[in-house]
Amino acid sequence: MSQTNRQFVLGKRPEGKPDRDTFELEETGIPEPKHGEVLVRTLFLSVDPYMRGRMRDRESYADPWDVGEPMAGHVVGEVVDSEHDDWQAGEFVFGNGSWSEYATLDGDDLTPVEPSANVPLESYLGVLGMPGRTAYFGTREVVEPTPGDTVAVSGAAGAVGSTVGQLASFAGARVVGFAGSDEKVDYLEDDLGFDAGINYKETDDYRAALDEAAPEGVDGYFDNVGGPISDAVFTQLNVDARVAVCGQIATYNDEGVATGPRKLPLLIPSRARVQGLLVGDYVARFEQANARLQEWVESGDLVHRESIVDGFENAPDAFLGLFEGDNIGKQVVNVAEPSE
Ligand code: NDP
Repeated sequence: MSQTNRQFVLGKRPEGKPDRDTFELEETGIPEPKHGEVLVRTLFLSVDPYMRGRMRDRESYADPWDVGEPMAGHVVGEVVDSEHDDWQAGEFVFGNGSWSEYATLDGDDLTPVEPSANVPLESYLGVLGMPGRTAYFGTREVVEPTPGDTVAVSGAAGAVGSTVGQLASFAGARVVGFAGSDEKVDYLEDDLGFDAGINYKETDDYRAALDEAAPEGVDGYFDNVGGPISDAVFTQLNVDARVAVCGQIATYNDEGVATGPRKLPLLIPSRARVQGLLVGDYVARFEQANARLQEWVESGDLVHRESIVDGFENAPDAFLGLFEGDNIGKQVVNVAEPSE
C-alpha cells in the first residue's frame, strides 16, 4: 500500500466557468481510523453538477466549501482498515467521502455495495446512487406520468435524465428528451426507449422541434437544465401539467440571474404545477427506492451507463466535462482497482 494520500481541495472560487485552477492537488499522509471509523480506499469517485454550487460563497442546501477545504463527494471504495464492528478489510462500501485516494469515514454512515454482472461497482454512484434516487422520486412523485401522457426530459442522456425517461416510459408515457449530440439522441432512442430525442445543439428553434416531437403537448416535464430549453418546454405545457425542477445546469456558471420569471405567465392557461425537487427530502425512503431500482437493473429492464475517466489526478477534468456534455450517463472517476 502506498504511504501517501492525494486529495483535491478547492484552490480558488471560480468566476464563471471553473477551470483547472479551481482545484488544488495536495499530498498528505494516509489517515488512521479512530474508534467507530473505517479507512476506505477510493475505487470510484462521483463528480456531480451540484458541486459547482459548493464552490460559491453562498449558503444553499449544500454548504459552500472554504478555499483550501478538501472537496466532498460520494465514493465507492474498499475497506482497508476498520475500527467499526460492522466492517472488515476487503469489503466494498458506498460513502459520503471526499476527492481523495483514502479517507476515514464514520462506519455508521457506510452502506454495503455488492457488484454483480449487471451491477458494476460504479453503478452505486449512478443509477443505484443519488442520481437514480432523484430520478425515482422526482418522476413518480412530482411528474407523476400516466399512460397517454407526454413527458419531456432535459439533460436526458445524463445520470438523472436517462433514468427519468425510462421510468416515465415504464409508466406508459410518450417520452421526449433533449440532449447535446447525435450520439446521445441515438442512445435515447435506440437503447433507452425514448420515443424521440432532440439534439438541442443542432436545433435553432427548440419550440418547433418539441412541437414536432410532442404534437399532443407536454403533460410532465423533468427539468435538469433550465435556460432556453425550459423556456421552450413551458410554451408547450398542457392543462394540469407537472414540472419537476431538479437542476438548472445551464445557469450554474452564471454570476447573475440574467432572466426574470418571464415564462410564468404561461402557467396561467396551463394551470401547471411547478415544483422544486431535492432528493434529500426522501432519505427515509432511499432503501425502498434502491430495492426497486436494483430489481430493474438486475433484470436488465433499466439501462444505465457510466462514463469513466481514469486516474485520480483527472477528477477535475471529469467534473469540468459535465458542463461540456462529455458524459453519457453517470460521470465517475476510476481512482483505483480493487485489491486481489
Ligand atoms: P448529468 O449526468 O446530466 O450531466 C450534466 C449534463 O448536463 C451534461 O452531460 C450535459 O449534457 C448537460 N448540460 C451541461 N450544460 C448544459 C447547458 N448549458 N444546456 C443544456 N444541457 C447542459 O448530471 P446529473 O444527472 O448528475 O444531474 C442532472 C441535473 O440534476 C443537474 O442540474 C444537477 O444539478 C441536478 N440534480 C439535482 C438533484 C436534486 O436533488 N435536486 C439531485 C441530482 C442532480 P448535454 O450533452 O445534453 O448538454
